[in-house]
Amino acid sequence: MSFFHSSDSLAFNLNLHSPFDFICLKCCSCCYQRHIELNELEIARLSQFLEIPESELIKKFLIPGQKPSLRTKEDGSCIFLNQAGCQIHPARPLVCRLYPLGLLFGQDGEEKWGLMPTHPDCLGIFVQEKTLEEYLLSQGAIPYLQFERQLRNKGK
Ligand code: SF4
Ligand code: SF4
Repeated sequence: MSFFHSSDSLAFNLNLHSPFDFICLKCCSCCYQRHIELNELEIARLSQFLEIPESELIKKFLIPGQKPSLRTKEDGSCIFLNQAGCQIHPARPLVCRLYPLGLLFGQDGEEKWGLMPTHPDCLGIFVQEKTLEEYLLSQGAIPYLQFERQLRNKGK
């Protein structure tokens, strides 16, 4: 699954002040059949978390390329998923922190937030106790988001 989504199928009608909160019940259904690309920050954080050099991280856990992505196992599950759940939860990529939120950057850098359809087996619960920005804070997403903004500004 890509971080950026086609706006055709989704209404990107949320902003940072919109009421939004989501309680994930950690069923891990959304950790299958995903295509998760990592940027430089996500690779550096993951390498630090796993205490292995980036070269080893890429060799063992990523599909190399201009935009390296997480490997999946034969059953389609993320390489970092096991029976106990996500093995890299504190260093998980931004897209995993955002789910089920989607984000589009407009030509002018404007951010458009929307809700993606959740996995049919998702047990998560939507509530409206936070703002979207507070939700991002609670997920530790802000530094990753700021890095994405920088990449966008550089035209990457
Ligand atoms: S990194 Fe963790 S949360 Fe993200 S898909 Fe893999 S197992 Fe799931
Ligand atoms: S499918 Fe829903 S409840 Fe399950 S881990 Fe993903 S977000 Fe959480």
